[in-house]
Amino acid sequence: MYENPDGVMIGLEVHVQLNKLKTKIFCGCSTDYHNDPPNSHVCPVCLGLPGSMPVINKKAVEAAIKVGLAFNCTVEERTQFYRKNYFYPDLPKAFQITQYDFPISSNGYVIIEGEDGEHKVRINRAHMEEDPGRLVHEGTIDKSKYTLIDYNRSGMALLEIVSEPDMRSPKEARRYLDKLRNIIEYLDVSDADLEGAMRVDANISIMGGQRAEIKNISSFKGAERAMLFEIVRQKNVLRRGGVVVQETRHFDEAREITLSMRSKEEAHDYRYFPEPDLVPLKISGWAPAIKETLPELPDARRMRFVEQYGITDDHAKSLTGELVWANYYEDVLKSYENEYGEKLDPKFAAAWINDTLKGEMNYRGTSLTFKVGSVTHYAVNKEYTVAIIRFLNLKTITKNNAIYLFRKLLDEPKGGDYYRPVRNSPDSAENYLMLTLEKEGLLKVEGDIVETAAEEAITENPQSVADYRAGKEKALNALVGAVMKKTRGRADARTAREILLEKLG
Ligand SMILES: [Zn+2]
Repeated sequence: MYENPDGVMIGLEVHVQLNKLKTKIFCGCSTDYHNDPPNSHVCPVCLGLPGSMPVINKKAVEAAIKVGLAFNCTVEERTQFYRKNYFYPDLPKAFQITQYDFPISSNGYVIIEGEDGEHKVRINRAHMEEDPGRLVHEGTIDKSKYTLIDYNRSGMALLEIVSEPDMRSPKEARRYLDKLRNIIEYLDVSDADLEGAMRVDANISIMGGQRAEIKNISSFKGAERAMLFEIVRQKNVLRRGGVVVQETRHFDEAREITLSMRSKEEAHDYRYFPEPDLVPLKISGWAPAIKETLPELPDARRMRFVEQYGITDDHAKSLTGELVWANYYEDVLKSYENEYGEKLDPKFAAAWINDTLKGEMNYRGTSLTFKVGSVTHYAVNKEYTVAIIRFLNLKTITKNNAIYLFRKLLDEPKGGDYYRPVRNSPDSAENYLMLTLEKEGLLKVEGDIVETAAEEAITENPQSVADYRAGKEKALNALVGAVMKKTRGRADARTAREILLEKLG
């Protein structure tokens, strides 16, 4: 049992920007503004000009329902928008269209890895609202001389996922955030890598005292640090005999401290009232059809990986913890079978992909994919991983060779993806890897040893020889593999291939 010595209670409000939608929540402006100049994706609606009328984006409501269902929430019978009145330069019409007592969904939960095993975090509700513009302060927020405003973000569809204060440490809060991002990623409703895609408000109290709300933290790492700082701050207040007051604080990411901004507003300060330009929506009927479209979610995929592939729960958890790795793993299994006509041992693949490749990337602090412009590249193309595992299976290369090759691919400044392999050609992944080992002197060329090995390979593998003569180019790979095996990986694959070709006439 986790004791929770400081009586920490953390509740999180996460704003997820539904940036995979094509248009904003109440107008037709494009959401694809991230590489464009400020204030270039705006119209009278998202600028809040007088007389402009909002029209609800149906796809945004559908995405919000999808998220609610994935978090085990009940989709409400009907939903309604409200005006939340406040004046701030990021919101030119002086109110934000949001929701109040009729959110999209409520009463859900998510299971996280808690301080003492599985821990349930209840979801209070998920509601929609429009994103305000983005303020860029010169210097720091408390000393800034001027502020710039970019309204490209204004009117982006946001979903605010509000948890109950069920987290008992910043670590649990971080796990909750990671789980939330993981689920959102699987649902394909938001690209978390884009600026401002996920922002966190953290409510923290200790020892049953008043809570402080830290607003607008833009990264999960920042959120964890802000919470750690805030707990120490509140403990110090209590130690000096003071009282923690309910207030809104700002996290200064550069200095890693929280600063008091204003005393906490109460709901009545905002003068909520129903948005007269948007009719209430009856949405309970939408839910069944949307439920049908839900993809396999992380927990389900993790269980399937354990059952279907017989891999450990740790491997399954790590691989399914990021969609890109889960897909990569299954792609490698499939490609291997397609390429070599036999099944790859899923446990062997999980060990190499998770422990070696992912482990090496975690160590380097890099990711499996990276973007150049809008194109996604892989740091290590799956063909290389398939070939390395094939060589290991054939004992063509040693484990150390394999680790060396993965590191070498990761060292490439532009990533292995730039050397897009071409099957059955001099530019195949197999050749690239063999040449790499040869270049480093890890493969030795010994003329007559390779000759003998090639002769033996031909005698001992009549089926491959017959296949090759029948026109199956791939059968030659098996013979090359046999030569490599016989020479304990020290032969040059290209030379072996040439010698084999010569001997096969
Ligand atoms: Zn607009």
